[in-house]
Amino acid sequence: MSALFDLTGKTALVTGSSRGLGFAIAQGLAEAGAALILNGVNEERLKAAAESLSAKGFSVRALAFDVNDEAAVVAAFESLDAEGVAVDILVNNAGIQYRKPMVELSTADWQRVIDTNLTSAFVVGREAAKRMIARKAGKVINIGSLTSDLARATVTPYTVAKGGIKMLTKGMAAEWGEHGINANAIGPGYMLTDMNEALISNPQFDAWVKGRTPQRRWGKPEELVGAAVFLAAPASNYVNGQIIYVDGGMISVL
Ligand code: NDP
Repeated sequence: MSALFDLTGKTALVTGSSRGLGFAIAQGLAEAGAALILNGVNEERLKAAAESLSAKGFSVRALAFDVNDEAAVVAAFESLDAEGVAVDILVNNAGIQYRKPMVELSTADWQRVIDTNLTSAFVVGREAAKRMIARKAGKVINIGSLTSDLARATVTPYTVAKGGIKMLTKGMAAEWGEHGINANAIGPGYMLTDMNEALISNPQFDAWVKGRTPQRRWGKPEELVGAAVFLAAPASNYVNGQIIYVDGGMISVL
C-alpha cells in the first residue's frame, strides 16, 4: 500500500457506525490499516457490527453512546484516555432525518435534528480535538450532504444542520490547523441506506434521483470509502476546510 494512504497504527472513531455509511467508512478505514472504535446507540446492532468486522480480522472496539448526550460523550473519551487509546481520526457521521413540512414540524423535532446532525459534531469534535492538539496531529472528517448546499422541501432542519456542518468544518480548520489537525467534510448524494428506505422503495422518488443524478443511480455506501481514506491519510495533509461531494455529480447540475 502506498504510504500516502496507509493508516497502519492509527485509531479511528466513527460515530454512527453500526450500519449504513458509517459502517462502510469504518470498514474502509480498517482495510487501510486503522484500528476502529465503532459507535451507535442500539447496543445489539453495534455489537453485531463490531463482531462482523472482528471476524474479518480487523481491530475493533464498540463504544455505545448517544452523541446528543454530552456527559456520555465526555465519559467515552475519558474511558479511552484511561485505556491509553488515542483517537487519531474522528469521523462525525451519526445523523438522523425527519421528512415533514415546516408548518407541521414541532420545535422539539427541529432541535433533535439540529442536535444530532450538527451540535454533536461540535461536541464530539471538541473532545477529540483537545487530545489531538496535545499530540499535535489528527484528522477530523465531518459528514455533510448535498444539502450542505442545496435546499429541499420537507427536510429543512436537516439541510440547516448540514449547511452548518460545512461552516463547522471551516471553523475547525481555521482554529485547529496550526495544531497539526486537518478538518474536512464529505458530502454524500443519495445513498442506499436505511435512512432512505422509504424513498428507495418509492418509484417516483427513485426515478427523480436517477433522473437528477448524472450517473443515473443511487450511491453505494462503500463508494464513500475513497474520500474517507484520502481525508484520513497523509495524502490529504495540506487539504483543510474542504467538502468533497460524492454524489454522482448531482450538485453540479440543475
Ligand atoms: P442510517 O440511518 O443508515 O444510520 C445512522 C447511524 O447513526 C446508525 O449507526 C445510528 O445508530 C447512528 N445514530 C443515529 N443517532 C445517533 C445518536 N444520537 N448517537 C449515536 N449514533 C447515532 O444513516 P446513513 O448511514 O444513511 O447516514 C449516515 C450519515 O450520512 C448521516 O449523518 C446522514 O445525514 C449522512 N448522509 C446520508 C445520506 C444518504 O443518502 N443516506 C446522504 C447525505 C448524508 P443506531 O444503529 O444505534 O441507531
